[in-house]
Amino acid sequence: MALHIKDSDQQAVFEHSRSGYPHEACGLFGGNEGFVKTFYPMTNVAASGTVYLLDSREQLEVMQAMDDAGEDLIGIYHSHVASEAFPSPTDIKQAFYPDSAYVIVSLDDMEKPDMRAFMIVDGKIGVEEIKVIEGE
Ligand SMILES: [Zn+2]
Repeated sequence: MALHIKDSDQQAVFEHSRSGYPHEACGLFGGNEGFVKTFYPMTNVAASGTVYLLDSREQLEVMQAMDDAGEDLIGIYHSHVASEAFPSPTDIKQAFYPDSAYVIVSLDDMEKPDMRAFMIVDGKIGVEEIKVIEGE
């Protein structure tokens, strides 16, 4: 199942990634059946250029908001400030949501960020196709 994201949401994610630089940025995608309905920008409390850590209280609030909106957690995004958009060993170790896509944005080329998605189950990485929906 591919991950569908609106062009406007993808641009918002790129902007959020750039604004977090030189730290990794992170956020969550709420939606249904592989369609992103809402992008929730999050704080990287690790404030690091090599790892990200969600704020647990902020995460609880967003999970509640998703629940209220009838959304599932379908994507977990973070940026890589200099490396390619591929899960690091740490990313794999910290992938606790087998039903959620792991979306990585590489800022290796700031002008043209690269967004890729993966499913990470039991330490195994599968590539998830991203379909960008034009408009809005
Ligand atoms: Zn990473």
